[in-house]
Amino acid sequence: METCRAARTVVAIACGGMLGVFAGCGGASRTLEPLPPPILGTKAPPGPTLPSEPSGPRPKPLRQIPGAKIVIDAGHGGLDPGALGVGPVPEKRITLAIAREVARRLRERGASVVMVRDSDTFVTLDGRAAVADRHRADLFVSIHADSAKRASATGTTVYVSRRASAQSLAAAQRIVEAFRAGGIETRGVGRANYRVLVAHSRPGVLVECGFLSNAGEARRLSTAAYQARVAEAIADGIAEYMAR
Ligand code: ZN
Repeated sequence: METCRAARTVVAIACGGMLGVFAGCGGASRTLEPLPPPILGTKAPPGPTLPSEPSGPRPKPLRQIPGAKIVIDAGHGGLDPGALGVGPVPEKRITLAIAREVARRLRERGASVVMVRDSDTFVTLDGRAAVADRHRADLFVSIHADSAKRASATGTTVYVSRRASAQSLAAAQRIVEAFRAGGIETRGVGRANYRVLVAHSRPGVLVECGFLSNAGEARRLSTAAYQARVAEAIADGIAEYMAR
């Protein structure tokens, strides 16, 4: 069974250069090799002042990406709950909720979206990766939520594989920029050989949407409003990448 807890341990450079060890998810190869410092820095600058209704209408027109083929992979599912964290909602439900919101927003932009799962079902890691190849995805996006021994760890991280293509890296960077623009804390781009990133030939990223081991972040990630904000940023980043 794949669970975040069992999948691996990854060493990451945390905010401000402090070394932190946290459990990742998504089926990365087990490794004790330290990750390089995140490529785009680690800490989001203070975000813009958020409007009182962050999920309300946005003034800017949506960037259209007609014909873009995006595969969205909601992490875990079925008998695999993913991280249980300290909140009331298991990772598998949060990943599906965010994945659905990302898909909806991408379809609004004209993209063709394939969901690896759209219900509470178990899919193997190789089965997920195979969807990327089968649909010749322009981008494969795996959605997860993090867990750490250090309860204070917070923030989103966008992973690419250690030998990621320039396309994968560019997509990750656009998503990190969109998190910052949306006032969502981000640890930047990380590198890890998650199975769902290395078992197919298409550009791919794995987005950790925050830490379920942190009480505040677990609570936020359990709300539809925050799931929508995270999804909006991911969709924005994907659209910026596809429109490059
Ligand atoms: Zn996960």
